[in-house]
Amino acid sequence: MSRIGIFGGTFDPPHLGHLILAAESADQLRLDTVLWMVAPLPPHKQEKKVSPFGRRVAMTEAAIRGEARFQVSTLENERAGPHYTADTLEILKGRRPGDELFLLIGQDSLNDLPSWHEPERVLTAIAGLGVMARPGERHETAGLLEQFPSLAEKLIRVDAPLLEISSTEIRARVKGGRHFRYYVCGGVARLIEAWGLYR
Ligand code: ATP
Repeated sequence: MSRIGIFGGTFDPPHLGHLILAAESADQLRLDTVLWMVAPLPPHKQEKKVSPFGRRVAMTEAAIRGEARFQVSTLENERAGPHYTADTLEILKGRRPGDELFLLIGQDSLNDLPSWHEPERVLTAIAGLGVMARPGERHETAGLLEQFPSLAEKLIRVDAPLLEISSTEIRARVKGGRHFRYYVCGGVARLIEAWGLYR
């Protein structure tokens, strides 16, 4: 039986915040593998312009290179959208019946839990929900615990420094001609430059 972390994101681009969240989760939750699940086009970002899936996959591959526990997963691209996390987790459970799944998210995503598609199904499918604090995000969970009692036994706080890094901020930096390369891995910076992304 393996302990599998599922880390979903747009990864446009993947940045050091993502890497630190995934690495701290892998250590603290004793995960054998973290699947970086690249979202084809997340339901809540449909209206925004997102880089092509293949480019985000390539950047994510570049970001995780060298960490044996990390793998990129394109599972969500194998079916038509919308790509709900509940469905993705149930497909994964079907493929890996003996494994335990741990969903990894930032505090902003946890605060959005009530607006997720069928959050109860998500909580049922997982052994744990690893959450990393994010600057500027409310931290108290009393309201969420009242609304979703099963969250109590699933919630695991991942201890990590507060990182004020977001893909949005990095895209704005590239667009504005400001430095951005120390917010991402070298390989990711090179792809952003080679492809002229976010200009
Ligand atoms: P964008 O700025 O485009 O919305 P993002 O930086 O939030 O992107 P996503 O790909 O949407 O990145 O994030 C994937 C997951 O990583 C989400 O669960 C998000 O909460 C988490 N995350 C991203 N950046 C951080 C950070 N700096 N600290 C904690 N969690 C983070």
